[in-house]
Amino acid sequence: MNVDDFRKRGKEMVDYIADYMENIQKRRVVPAIEPGYLRHSLPTEAPKKAESYETVMQDFENFIMPGVTHWQHPRFHAYFPAGNSFPSILADMLSDALGCVGFSWAACPAMTELEMIMLDWFGRMIGLPEQFLPFTENGKGGGVIQGSASECNFVSLLAARFEVMKELRQRFPFVEEGLLMSKLIAYCSKEAHSSVEKACMIGMVKLRILETDSKFRLRGDTLRNAITEDRNMGLIPFFVSTTLGTTSCCSFDSLSEIGPICTDQELWLHVDAAYAGSAFICPEFRYLLSGIEHAMSFNTNPNKWLLVNFDCSTMWVKDRYKLTQALVVDPLYLQHSWTDKAIDYRHWGIPLSRRFRSLKLWFVIRMYGIDGLQNYIREHVRLAKKFEAQIKADDRFELIGDVIMGLVCFRLKGGDDINQKLLTKLNSSGRIHMVPASLNERFVIRFCVCAENANDRDIVVAWEIIRQAAEHLLHENAA
Ligand code: PLP
Repeated sequence: MNVDDFRKRGKEMVDYIADYMENIQKRRVVPAIEPGYLRHSLPTEAPKKAESYETVMQDFENFIMPGVTHWQHPRFHAYFPAGNSFPSILADMLSDALGCVGFSWAACPAMTELEMIMLDWFGRMIGLPEQFLPFTENGKGGGVIQGSASECNFVSLLAARFEVMKELRQRFPFVEEGLLMSKLIAYCSKEAHSSVEKACMIGMVKLRILETDSKFRLRGDTLRNAITEDRNMGLIPFFVSTTLGTTSCCSFDSLSEIGPICTDQELWLHVDAAYAGSAFICPEFRYLLSGIEHAMSFNTNPNKWLLVNFDCSTMWVKDRYKLTQALVVDPLYLQHSWTDKAIDYRHWGIPLSRRFRSLKLWFVIRMYGIDGLQNYIREHVRLAKKFEAQIKADDRFELIGDVIMGLVCFRLKGGDDINQKLLTKLNSSGRIHMVPASLNERFVIRFCVCAENANDRDIVVAWEIIRQAAEHLLHENAA
């Protein structure tokens, strides 16, 4: 493809995307296909000779589109939102065109510097304490964009493990390192994301999964008791991963109770706010952050609830040296003459190569403004409350957990069986898409407000689809 072809096809592609977005509501939300559907449609071997753009796009339309789940569809209420907006798409086009791989300051100075500034901007927008953001004041904190919340959870654990092992090696110089490691224990609640369990599995440390209260929150007493029990057993507590906005039901661990315990007991406190963290740009939600001053690390994903396309998972640490000491390897070919003065993000995460991800955050923050982003979050919360009101008004249904952000968990009164059937019926209709969660061993249906321009009518339509399906099901069951 030469530059003239690119100009032509690029413009066509923007039109294709705009048409897709404008007409997305005419499609099924989830595809009506079965595993392996694509294997029968595509050749078994890659083409030896170049093919035309037209034939590739034709095959995209004929074979790929029928297998696409439409995450931006107004009836997509599954998981959490997949951030998406025109400014973000445009910024990603630019990032792809520049094609920089900014692992160090020298590898692309603008990439590193914009990332640092964006992390300062966004950290201030969500009300993080100054200790997390002092890139500009020669402080110790700082932020980075990782590829996913799972990576944030993992590198926080690695940093905490490095720190505690450093201290243990000094205290017990003659004890084998493997033995010391085998005594380490981390904590999270049973509603924490599975990536915490994965982090501990890969990091080879024990994890104790703690019970929550009636509102699915980890409380201070539960943690304190577990720590005491474990110390009495000869274990070494070192890491607590809390969640603000759990995946299952968007509950909030009690940071104000847990934080002081972590400080007293010298445990690394990590706060995973992958979805809900973006809502802290609205001051009225910041009460949920109370206790954050005790945290060592915090993450939230603008690529979930801030209109930034995947991937953009922002993470801050109070002491950047404690993160980088766990991750630094420094071959000569990656060193440069500014190493002492500059930030090299390759020391902040697992991959070496990094995309220009801060560009899309910059475009989105500037083109919506804080006001526009606050309106977006508040509108989603308002719509979730509207959906909650529909559930409350129908006594065949019940709500599970509190509706604080854009997620509503509900079920038909009765057993798991009928709720499983209801969700299967709804998803296979292609008219709406939701996913389940298990709360207190009960099957619940999660309804999340996801689309950027979700409105009152979308809630009415979604509720009507759910209500009708439930009515049919209850009727069939009664017959
Ligand atoms: N943490 C929480 C609280 C989440 O809700 C999720 C995903 O929804 C994750 C972590 C994992 O996110 P990622 O896909 O960015 O790894």
